Amino acid sequence: MRHRIAVVGAGPAGLAFARVTHRHGHSVTVLERDPSPDARPPGGTLDLQEGLGQQALEKAGLLAEFRALSRPEGQAMRILDTDGTVLRDWRPGPDERANPEIDRGQLRDLLLGPLDVQWGRGVAKVVPGAPDGVRVHFDDGREEEFDLVVGADGAWSRTRPAVSPVAPHYTGVTAVETSLDDVDTRHPDLARLVGDGSVAVYGPNRAIVAQRSSGGQVRVYAQFRAPLDRHADLGAADAAAVRADLLALFDGWAAPVLDLLRRGTAFAHRPVHTLPVSHTWAHVPGVTLLGDAAHLMPPLGAGANLALLEGAELAELLATGPTDVDEAVRGFEERMWARAGRWASITTAGLERLVSPDPAEALALFDQVQPSR
Ligand SMILES: Cc1cc2nc3c(=O)[nH]c(=O)nc-3n(C[C@H](O)[C@H](O)[C@H](O)COP(=O)(O)OP(=O)(O)OC[C@H]3O[C@@H](n4cnc5c(N)ncnc54)[C@H](O)[C@@H]3O)c2cc1C
Repeated sequence: MRHRIAVVGAGPAGLAFARVTHRHGHSVTVLERDPSPDARPPGGTLDLQEGLGQQALEKAGLLAEFRALSRPEGQAMRILDTDGTVLRDWRPGPDERANPEIDRGQLRDLLLGPLDVQWGRGVAKVVPGAPDGVRVHFDDGREEEFDLVVGADGAWSRTRPAVSPVAPHYTGVTAVETSLDDVDTRHPDLARLVGDGSVAVYGPNRAIVAQRSSGGQVRVYAQFRAPLDRHADLGAADAAAVRADLLALFDGWAAPVLDLLRRGTAFAHRPVHTLPVSHTWAHVPGVTLLGDAAHLMPPLGAGANLALLEGAELAELLATGPTDVDEAVRGFEERMWARAGRWASITTAGLERLVSPDPAEALALFDQVQPSR
């Protein structure tokens, strides 16, 4: 593979692409806007599915290391009624490895391994059709040409406009995220409530979900339907005001459930945006997209899995498939669109049922997805 290939973004998609390429004895230029791997908190935990994210790690030769780091017990899921009654309490068996959890930071470090990422190289624009290839314009004003630019730069991709005019739209659901540290010693009551995995409580048009990461951290997501400008107003408010607003929104819910919000010290607003289900584009030679940049969907356990698998598959194809890069990319795009379209439909319908006027919908979905639970 003697082509000049750049991947924009060192998230799950970009790193899987670079790492599998590396495994095949080639290298790609990884361009990442963050100035260093630890410039931002890496975020919570991800469940990696057997046929998706875990398959990508197998292609990268990292499955054994993933198994050593991941938390199968994190698959546990408890559902409560708003009065605190336990409605479902599912715990994985000792050999249940379908969706083990791993912290995002651990996954990033696992994939990074020997890779040489160019940190602090934010991409401003990607312009195909230049005489020397595809021209990448950087935030600092510099420019560079490549034969293939792979946009793995997430929801607000700067690569995407080179192939598609479509932008993410707001779903009408906002999540406000907070976290509790050291729960086993500082909040043992909430540690018991959350258990080894997740606890979810569903009410009309709103939900509270808390999920354990490693190191005794719990991430809490309050989800509700609201206009986007409510987010804009509250996003700027201080923690006490956001907390008070959330407690009013979930007024009447069981005290231990509300404690998940009451004890949070910092809150981040995350309005849920998506790209249209089955987002595709007319193929543009020299540019393609992976992961959220291609198919941003509701955060219901598929996005990182698809991002990883797509990165791994494209890398494998370029290293071992047709010698014509453009032909390889075209074939890859067709398969990516078909699979991502199916998941986008599933997760879009899932969001409607999880944050629904009728909370029984959420329970029915849980029973449908995992009847054995
Ligand atoms: C709360 C929450 C929970 C989730 N849980 C799960 C889960 O359990 N399982 C699951 O499969 N998915 C989950 N997801 C979805 C998942 O996080 C995303 O689908 C996944 O991170 C997408 O990976 P990506 O590599 O495409 O993009 P990203 O993870 O967004 O990575 C993009 C990278 O590109 C960089 N970048 C952005 N712009 C530029 C630029 N202009 N120039 C250079 N670099 C740039 C960014 O800094 C970043 O490093 C969850 C999402 C959320 C919000």
